[in-house]
Amino acid sequence: MTPRMKKTTSPAEAGQILSAVRRKGLSTGFVPTMGGLHEGHLSLVRMSLARSDYTVVSIFVNPKQFGEGEDFDRYPRAAERDSELLEELGCDLLFVPAAGSLYSDADRTSVSVSSLGDHLCGAARPGHFDGVLLVVAKLLNITRPDHAFFGQKDAQQAVIIQRMAADLDFPVRIFLGPTVREEDGLAMSSRNRYLSAAERAAAPKMRAGLLAAAEAIEKGERDASALKKIVIAGMAAGGFEIDYVEVVDGRTMQPIAEASGTVLLAAAGKMGSTRMIDNIAMKVGPEGAGETLLEFPGWSRYER
Ligand code: AMP
Repeated sequence: MTPRMKKTTSPAEAGQILSAVRRKGLSTGFVPTMGGLHEGHLSLVRMSLARSDYTVVSIFVNPKQFGEGEDFDRYPRAAERDSELLEELGCDLLFVPAAGSLYSDADRTSVSVSSLGDHLCGAARPGHFDGVLLVVAKLLNITRPDHAFFGQKDAQQAVIIQRMAADLDFPVRIFLGPTVREEDGLAMSSRNRYLSAAERAAAPKMRAGLLAAAEAIEKGERDASALKKIVIAGMAAGGFEIDYVEVVDGRTMQPIAEASGTVLLAAAGKMGSTRMIDNIAMKVGPEGAGETLLEFPGWSRYER
């Protein structure tokens, strides 16, 4: 019989459990989430299970990464179902800290990464990535995993976290998983459950716009403003209120005028009251181009 998944809400206990695991010589993998689990999250858990002897998943809806007027209060919380899904998959430890166990009024430290957050979601959601980095830094220090797994769905977030881990010498190797999609192309997201039936039907238009721009690149278009127009037209056809559409260098997250090298086509917009994001990463040469998984630069000093 496979042992039951352990659960804890205590950072100290999570740390102790994982120290004991490490003392046995086992490798550890970590997947941080905000819960409301779907196949996108589960794909990262499977990556961890395949690569690590022991997998820990955290569920924490981090108040510090939500801005004023954002959806912190209504963010989907589905603790029991999430726990069942993780146990079925073979996750070893579920860590669900309470906000009070991670933050206190005495805290004075912040974590921020410069320039990588100047555009895209960093510009659209001031303070968001500082909130993400603070919680990820804390969770990495509590769990001290060998491997940590993030999704390309949040490409800018993954790049920023990779940078932080390298700059601050976190002894962890960061892995990126591809964006998992519904059959009609919609990127899976906990927020998709906010959508009405009509909104859900229109939501794949963001992906369609990004794909149309990717096809244009494949056919030779390199001009970023022409590419942005294609994405905007797709999103407008779906009724999105556009937050941003950008063509950025996939390593620096800075806007580029011409698509070349590792290119990230990124979009964000509101479908009704639901904010949605998506992206496509491409390797673009003078002749050819193709969709690819975003490649992390070799920043990590800890290749395990
Ligand atoms: P969240 O619970 O939204 O904070 O996401 C937790 C992790 O799952 C992050 O690394 C996300 O990038 C990743 N993730 C969310 N949606 C998807 C998806 N559709 N495909 C792959 N990874 C995802």
